[in-house]
Amino acid sequence: MSESAAVKLVVVGSIGIDTIETPWAKRKSILGGSASYACASAGFFTSVGMVGVVGTDFPEEHKALYQRMGVDLQGLQQVPGETFRWSGVYEEDMNQRRTISTELNVFKNFSPEIPAAYRESPFLFLANISPELQLRVLDQMRKPLFVTVDTMDLWINMARDKLMEVIARVDMLALNESEARQLTGKQSLLKAAQQLLQKGPRMILLKKGEHGSLLIARDDIFVMPAYPVFDVLDPTGAGDTFAGGFMGALAAAGQVTKESIRRAILYGTVVASFGVEAFSLDRLQHLARAEIDARAQTFQNMLRA
Ligand code: AMP
Repeated sequence: MSESAAVKLVVVGSIGIDTIETPWAKRKSILGGSASYACASAGFFTSVGMVGVVGTDFPEEHKALYQRMGVDLQGLQQVPGETFRWSGVYEEDMNQRRTISTELNVFKNFSPEIPAAYRESPFLFLANISPELQLRVLDQMRKPLFVTVDTMDLWINMARDKLMEVIARVDMLALNESEARQLTGKQSLLKAAQQLLQKGPRMILLKKGEHGSLLIARDDIFVMPAYPVFDVLDPTGAGDTFAGGFMGALAAAGQVTKESIRRAILYGTVVASFGVEAFSLDRLQHLARAEIDARAQTFQNMLRA
């Protein structure tokens, strides 16, 4: 892609080095970050540009991997200092995860700058990153057709007011069950979603891990199970892979309708099911679009009642 290339989807989020321990394996210093997973996934469907920051220690091979996967890097800053690092441990059932450490490093002084070629982009995904930075990105975009925001418990605890400002300005809020309860104080997910719909977004996407997802719009509810995977090696980034695939497929459709949203949820689910079969981007980097389409077809057959 040339320096001035426009993209259909812009993704801002973390780009980091993760250390992850599951009951069966441990991987040190592997490529991670919400934007890494989301961009890799979206790239199967549309032209995607990454906005974020890495330090001088960030291995060149990771940048080369993004490029091989079709991710435009005009919005990726590399600055003196260390790259964002995160480490976490999964419990036996893999649904419970504990954060061991979060080192913001170069994210501490980061101010996202949206390249001119990205500002007209119709689709924007604000992946997990501080709400303050998400707001700065929103301020620089011209008039996106559809914006989704993702977040996590850390920001709900530390930056609730800023997060609510972001939520008021987006079309869709993606969050998991515990975050929905934490944000609203409501135990019922439907009531939590209803409350959040009052704050601005048109849709709430509830991610339920291995139990799939639930889309709640003002006049629609859509339920999607997860694709059954034999061996989940590492669920890290599943939500970002899902959301990236969702936004990529929606951007490829070019319009936001009930049908395009549902189809995008199907694709997001399928790409996420590949992603969890390996650590980091190990499975996604060897994935072909034809495999995605084939699994989407198999999945639709499974869903037919
Ligand atoms: P997920 O499993 O969808 O929560 O995404 C995991 C990814 O999020 C990991 O690759 C981490 O590098 C990244 N991550 C963890 N904590 C944070 C944070 N506070 N802000 C941004 N990204 C984070």
